[in-house]
Amino acid sequence: MDGQRNENLASTRPRPAGRRRKRGARLAAAYALQALFALLAALLAALLICGVLYVREHLFPKSGGDAQPKGETIAGSGGAETGNDPATEAGAEAYVVVLDAGHGGVQSGCAFDGVLEKDITLAVTLLAAEKLRAEGVTVILTREDDTDVSLDERCRIANDAGADLFVSVHCNSYEDSSINGLESYYHNGKKGQRLAEYILAAAGELGVKTRSVKDANYQVIRDTVMPASLVEIGFLSNPAERARLQSEAYQDTIAQAIADGVLAMKAAG
Ligand SMILES: [Zn+2]
Repeated sequence: MDGQRNENLASTRPRPAGRRRKRGARLAAAYALQALFALLAALLAALLICGVLYVREHLFPKSGGDAQPKGETIAGSGGAETGNDPATEAGAEAYVVVLDAGHGGVQSGCAFDGVLEKDITLAVTLLAAEKLRAEGVTVILTREDDTDVSLDERCRIANDAGADLFVSVHCNSYEDSSINGLESYYHNGKKGQRLAEYILAAAGELGVKTRSVKDANYQVIRDTVMPASLVEIGFLSNPAERARLQSEAYQDTIAQAIADGVLAMKAAG
């Protein structure tokens, strides 16, 4: 019996030990859960703090940034208003026009009697840029000297700049040398057409012989995403017009027509 009791005792003793183990396991699990909750709480707290800091960073510097320029303009009270205007013009209201002098470098364009299209287009484009800049327009040139720029690159420059308008300047040529006059082309919709019409009309008003506005699939007015016009400013194949296109006075008139057309477009919105 004793032996049995002993056996019983021996067999019952491990039971509490097993319970203890189970209790221990439960306790361990509970502690683990507690630790997990604590970790989650800490994580949430950290996220909350980060969130508050994020919101602070995004709210306070902005209001501070607004306050600082105001303080500056107040400090320089004399130029307070004029100080604000260029800031807004240079920012949201900047009107960006890309002027594209056709050809350049090894690409001469059409050539008659030693007169190269690339030289005439550059001269006129630089004059037009000068006039537009004087009117507060931001002008980007696809080339400023006698360099060869690919058609892809010309489009990329305009598209990357997010320009409001694009104007490409070229000279025409035709087998019939009696043909003369300025033509303007568009391809990308009504606004491009309106730009081409404004430039042609402005040229007409300045006494330039004009022909017509046409829709044409030229790459620079097809692959540019803003209203775009390609202006064939005159025929190098026509001797009289070729002579005019070489004169600075006539180049200036054509440049004025381009600038006027752009400004009319800007005013129309
Ligand atoms: Zn050309």
